[in-house]
Amino acid sequence: MAGAGGFLGSHLVDRLLEEGSRVYGLDNFSTGRRENLAAARERSGFTLLRRDLTSGASLPAVDLVFQLASPASPPRYQEDPIGTLRVNSLGTERTLRLAQRHRARFVLASTSEVYGDPEVHPQTESYWGHVNPIGPRSCYDEGKRYAEALASAYARAKGVDVRIARIFNTYGPRMALDDGRVISNFLVQAIRGEPLTVQGTGKQSRSFCFVSDMVEGLYRLARTDPGTLPGPVNLGNPRGEVSIGELAELVRELTGNRSAVRRIPRAVDDPERRRPDIRRARRFLGWSPRVPLRVGLERTVEDFRSRLEEA
Ligand code: UDP
Repeated sequence: MAGAGGFLGSHLVDRLLEEGSRVYGLDNFSTGRRENLAAARERSGFTLLRRDLTSGASLPAVDLVFQLASPASPPRYQEDPIGTLRVNSLGTERTLRLAQRHRARFVLASTSEVYGDPEVHPQTESYWGHVNPIGPRSCYDEGKRYAEALASAYARAKGVDVRIARIFNTYGPRMALDDGRVISNFLVQAIRGEPLTVQGTGKQSRSFCFVSDMVEGLYRLARTDPGTLPGPVNLGNPRGEVSIGELAELVRELTGNRSAVRRIPRAVDDPERRRPDIRRARRFLGWSPRVPLRVGLERTVEDFRSRLEEA
């Protein structure tokens, strides 16, 4: 697994180890964190490879490749736009070649960002998107679009068994406290009793999926029979759609935060609305999310509280 030290990667590693798989976890820890792999490293089936996917260092023989390596939070990928493009282009090519060499299955962690600021709502997989190719988000959006194009080319030209997950906003325990995304920012601010920073009017929406649901979706995508999928699959929670203003209120309620929200300027090219159409995942993976936003947030608040106390 490339990107094993990340928020999602590490939860997926745990899931694979639980079922008895042998897992090689690769990460350069640019945004991933060693602590995320503390449980995995106690297990005999896990090998940590601390290296950069774009560096050319050798990769082990495997029968399943997950490509989750990339910064994924807007502030983090915008801090390193070239690195983000490189890991999604060169890094994805290396993992695809590895899959080709060992006739391994290949799972790409793509993103709802391939839809850009969508003109179609909710977003179906057949929608081609509305992306600014030169804006500040383009390193990530176009990086992932290129990764999807490359994976599709390896499927067509080289016969690699490729599966593409378009991952919508996901949250839960282990998110980096300073990750810069809305839920981690709001939780840290709320627990510290600080005002929550709402960008713009707060009317923009996102659909939030709890991490255990996302991991189950990715796992099923990897395990589904070859040749059954019609293409990329949206994974996310359509019932979790809220405006950012509503999210701020919910977080304040769950944490007992009394500070008023603080309005700050809206990010450039920030998508206005986002909600997955998950009919494809339901039909082909028998998957749909189970954890309601309020329940998932309560569990996440608990995790954030204990980590903030330790810190
Ligand atoms: N946002 C916000 N305050 C913050 C961080 C983000 O209001 O402290 C907003 C941001 O403008 C966007 C939404 O929350 O509309 C989701 O942003 P995030 O960075 O979590 O992820 P994105 O879905 O944009 O990749």
